[in-house]
Amino acid sequence: MKIGDVKLFCKTCNKEIPLSVFQKTGMMGLHDQFKFIDDTCVSCRKEEDKLTGESEGERRVGMDDEITGTPI
Ligand SMILES: [Zn+2]
Repeated sequence: MKIGDVKLFCKTCNKEIPLSVFQKTGMMGLHDQFKFIDDTCVSCRKEEDKLTGESEGERRVGMDDEITGTPI
């Protein structure tokens, strides 16, 4: 399997989720240090957060801080 072939698609909107090389090699089993990768894209996760309320949102804000820039 080539790194370029490793793809993940959002389970909600079916859009391809961009993965870092590190995540891809982890999914290929080359190392076991990769973090769990959400199978929904960033925009769907934001929608989910709105729907599921703050407790769920807060848990994910830590990870998305740099992207959203809206820590609580
Ligand atoms: Zn999505």
